[in-house]
Amino acid sequence: MTVGFIGLGNMGGPMALNLVKAGFRVQGFDMVPAAKEAAQGGGVTLAATGREAVAGADVVITMLPSGPIMLSVWQDIVPAVGKGALIIDCSTVDIDNCRKAHELAASAGLVSLDAPVSGGVGGAVAATLTFMAGGSTEAFERAKPLLSAMGKNLTHCGDAGAGQAAKICNNMILGISMIAVSEAFGLADKLGLSRQALFDVASKSSGQCWSLTTYCPVPGPVPTSPANNGYKPGFAAALMLKDLRLSQAASEGAGAQTPLGAAATALYEAMDQAGEGGRDFSAIFERLAGGQA
Ligand code: NAD
Repeated sequence: MTVGFIGLGNMGGPMALNLVKAGFRVQGFDMVPAAKEAAQGGGVTLAATGREAVAGADVVITMLPSGPIMLSVWQDIVPAVGKGALIIDCSTVDIDNCRKAHELAASAGLVSLDAPVSGGVGGAVAATLTFMAGGSTEAFERAKPLLSAMGKNLTHCGDAGAGQAAKICNNMILGISMIAVSEAFGLADKLGLSRQALFDVASKSSGQCWSLTTYCPVPGPVPTSPANNGYKPGFAAALMLKDLRLSQAASEGAGAQTPLGAAATALYEAMDQAGEGGRDFSAIFERLAGGQA
């Protein structure tokens, strides 16, 4: 089976290599020379353009920075994809552009799926990503062998756009919960409560959550968390801000009430504007605490 893969960056690069390892023939395209070279070194056949990458492909996958870029790439490549082929977007994008992409694919006789991921670059390399998919059951069933070669947990969330909706809602929880945990550690410091004591209690109590037990924003309690590594990402604050902005655009469009999502977006905007967008998002603790962890 031939796969056309467009967007061979931090996530798409290792995902394409895992498809090669699983025995798929991968035709790849990116605009950045370093991304192309790394993919070629791992067995991806390079194409000179996006259209060339999708020519003759049974399945096309895109992994791109944003909704507008994804839609413009789809507008370029969809006419060059063979009728009946499956086209999957794994980028994190806004609901509007996601739905427009599905409509474009349907009008060209293609089967399409939105399948954003969580698990970060580590998950992309280790082929342990979580995929949340939106589209028809047929599209999901056809995508399964490919998604299984790149990830571990696959959930069919519903029709077109449901994968992006799940991704946006999940990451809004993550952004809010990281701030909640950081505020609690900041308050504990001021109250003279040790960080380990708060961790020991909250990790076994109703304050328990992933931001605390897996990704603890203060150094010490969870040795593998970025707080113990100078807040090197991990998951950069700029990417968290991107996802929170998507949540607010979706919330506004749908008429939902998300005041804590809005507050989290404002806090990550301030972090980004202070030049800290490249730090891990858990470094929000230092900003809230007003100094070094
Ligand atoms: P990245 O910037 O490393 O990769 C994107 C790639 O797309 C780049 O190599 C870029 O050159 C390429 N590209 C841009 N425009 C193109 C075009 N017109 N034609 C061909 N290639 C083009 O970003 P990434 O970290 O790989 O993230 C990709 C997507 O995955 C984003 O939507 C991001 O939000 C999402 N995501 C990232 C992470 C993470 O931890 N990095 C985790 C989950 C989801």
